[in-house]
Amino acid sequence: MKCKNCSRQVLINDYCKDCFIKYFEKEFRKGLGNLKGKSLCIAVSGGKDSLTTLYLTKKFYPENKILALLIDEGIHGYRHGTIKSLRKYAVEWGIPYKILKFKKPLDSMNPKRPCSVCGVLRRYYLNKHARVFNVLILGHNLDDEAQSTLMNVFMRYASRFNRMTVKQVTHELFVKRVKPMRYLSEREVMAYFLLKGFNTSMRECPYARSSFRDVVRKSLNDFEYKHSGTKLSIIKTYDSLGIINNPVNLGSCNACGEPSSNEVCKACMILKG
Ligand SMILES: [Zn+2]
Ligand SMILES: [Zn+2]
Repeated sequence: MKCKNCSRQVLINDYCKDCFIKYFEKEFRKGLGNLKGKSLCIAVSGGKDSLTTLYLTKKFYPENKILALLIDEGIHGYRHGTIKSLRKYAVEWGIPYKILKFKKPLDSMNPKRPCSVCGVLRRYYLNKHARVFNVLILGHNLDDEAQSTLMNVFMRYASRFNRMTVKQVTHELFVKRVKPMRYLSEREVMAYFLLKGFNTSMRECPYARSSFRDVVRKSLNDFEYKHSGTKLSIIKTYDSLGIINNPVNLGSCNACGEPSSNEVCKACMILKG
């Protein structure tokens, strides 16, 4: 088959290698929006999604102040591989980085639902440390976003559902988020990452298999396989609900003052509990 843009051999999405890379970068650029003059904190894990985000943000905004921020959750044997990759690429691309550790390693907390505890604390620390920047950039892809949307529906997390798209949260301590890969699938990100010749640890978090997200991920992949376009439909439906323009006014945690929809935020409950 021939590429829909030129006459070369198709590699992925009806594109040849070069045309796919161009398509991917154009979509990413669109997802970033106009960040001229803004200081940017990029949440990184050192995995393929965040490294792609780091590389392309720097490519499109080489003059901006950029920091790569990695939160080390303290999961034995898991994070060191991607930290090594982050260090290597950050130096290569000339981007400063910072690594923060959970005060108590996740392993030592022995939580009943590790992924939800980890998620709460990671978001908490990211928001706290990204605050001195104008924008927090997240490397979530279409698969992540479709999973999160469905999870919030299944779990009846109406408030979180509202907060998922970034524009509508108002709290002076809540950093504006941008997700440039919201419409790019995991498969596309992986293809781009490999075609650019990048590499990193692809090891999965040891807790991931026991999570609710994993159940949703598997079902969604199965659905996508049988009904191509499902993931995008979920996101587009969510986007068209109209809640996007309705701001959510977050309150503040009584204990730490951070943005929270409860009297005491989940992070404080975990850290003190
Ligand atoms: Zn082509
Ligand atoms: Zn708190």
